[in-house]
Amino acid sequence: MDKSIIIIGAGIAGLSAGCYGQMNGYKTRIFEMHTTPGGLCTAWKRRGYLIDGCIHWLTGSSPGNSFYRLWEEVGAVQGRTMVDPENFIRIEGKEGKVFIVYTDLHRLEQHMKELAPEDKDIIEEFINAALICTRLDMPIEKAPELYSPIDGLKMMFTMFPYLRLMRKWGKISLTDFAQRFKNPFLREVFPLVQDVPDFPIIGLLTTLAFLHNKAAGYPLGGSLEFARGIERRYLDLGGEVHYKSPIAKILVGNDRAVGVQLADGSEHHSDIVISAADGRSTIFDMLEGKYVSEEIQGYYDKLPIFSPLIYISLGVAHSFDESHTAAGINFPLDEPVTIARQELKRLPVHIYNFDPTLAPEGKTLLTVMIDSDYEYWKKLSEDSERYRAEKEQIADQVVALLDRRFPGLAKQVEMRDVATPLTFERYTGNWQGTYEGWLLSTKTLNVRMSKTLPGLNNFYMAGHWVMPGGGLPTGIMAGRYVTQIICKNDKKKFVTSTP
Ligand SMILES: Cc1cc2nc3c(=O)[nH]c(=O)nc-3n(C[C@H](O)[C@H](O)[C@H](O)COP(=O)(O)OP(=O)(O)OC[C@H]3O[C@@H](n4cnc5c(N)ncnc54)[C@H](O)[C@@H]3O)c2cc1C
Repeated sequence: MDKSIIIIGAGIAGLSAGCYGQMNGYKTRIFEMHTTPGGLCTAWKRRGYLIDGCIHWLTGSSPGNSFYRLWEEVGAVQGRTMVDPENFIRIEGKEGKVFIVYTDLHRLEQHMKELAPEDKDIIEEFINAALICTRLDMPIEKAPELYSPIDGLKMMFTMFPYLRLMRKWGKISLTDFAQRFKNPFLREVFPLVQDVPDFPIIGLLTTLAFLHNKAAGYPLGGSLEFARGIERRYLDLGGEVHYKSPIAKILVGNDRAVGVQLADGSEHHSDIVISAADGRSTIFDMLEGKYVSEEIQGYYDKLPIFSPLIYISLGVAHSFDESHTAAGINFPLDEPVTIARQELKRLPVHIYNFDPTLAPEGKTLLTVMIDSDYEYWKKLSEDSERYRAEKEQIADQVVALLDRRFPGLAKQVEMRDVATPLTFERYTGNWQGTYEGWLLSTKTLNVRMSKTLPGLNNFYMAGHWVMPGGGLPTGIMAGRYVTQIICKNDKKKFVTSTP
């Protein structure tokens, strides 16, 4: 008899675990609390626009690298047009100066040298490191937990140039690195290239390498369509998804996971349970904190997460001719403004003029992401009128700020939508509404988390709560890895197929 697996959550990790489980002869079922697949990888309709809520760049978007082969296995990329950005980000200064992080590394080098000829040496060192990354294909096929000593040696051999870079650039944050520039403008704007606290330079080098190789594009049609592709593959493989099915409890007997209990009280049994849902609620609510080590407790007490967001979307009756930037345009404000109690001196905006499926003809979707404090919104939500009013006020403020940068924009806005950290929490269950789980920082870069819990058998975790840094790649990798571990435990050879 085939063994059965229940998977909690139809995000990218849950759907991937489902696909690989089906490929390996397990009878899998996914229980998802929402009505659509994708989790954070989603989109929603508002007044003729489709608001994309996720993919800015998809690691492994083109053939020739190991990530693409994985995306092919789960049916995510076939028949999908990828658009490659010309720029990673455009950072504007106050006196008309602009730092454009071109995705072509040679063009970027030339541009940086024009901006800061006095920093020629450090610019060359940085670009050369990124070029080394362009020549590497990461061995991601196999779960690190299953590495034999020979696999380890092979990995060291293949990854030797990268491991050297990791040693050199893994411990330096963008902010610290920026201090090495003599040029004051580069010193000021470089940390904004990936505006995340303590973000390691190696993370940026890897992203730039994928972009240079045209392997970090955007799938036309957006994030929900992308997730639906994986859902289709899962259903074709014989999997079952149950939507509107929030799991309240993981059922345990003799320290073995034996099934799940839904919020409506119904029970469903299986040989194995995989949680691809929020880590904290899995461990501390669904399992009542009974299977926790000091180490795991420490993650949840101390590790930083990607900041929750206010996500402002605008439908604008105008077609913008700005070039496609993966991470948007970041521009300075004439004067600082306070939004949700935070002072902002700059504003980032994403202009989706490269995806006609998101807006009616001649019109454009714009999104603005602002880091925000979860507790502030939690408190505010006790008074629903004030919560709603705050969202309206933020939309007014953002429109006014964008109008200064794009004169006339305010009159062209015909759709406004504001999602808060509570929106992300409500729709995806992610702790504090974070958009990517554990922060990738110089301190978490080498943290390896277990995909099992101490003392609990037949139970696994997948997704961005077990792989710091998060993102879509960790979703598919974790889904694949837990299935490999399950196969190994069942003494089965792990197999895959590509449709
Ligand atoms: C604005 C934004 C931009 C992003 N940009 C990028 C990008 O450009 N590139 C990139 O790689 N990544 C990006 N990310 C991050 C990426 O979307 C996530 O890291 C990734 O999708 C996480 O996948 P996951 O499956 O681990 O988790 P999730 O997507 O959180 O999936 C978990 C699923 O579990 C379900 N669930 C939770 N609790 C329960 C329960 N009790 N019962 C049943 N179901 C439950 C949820 O509804 C959800 O569907 C972005 C995210 C956001 C929000």
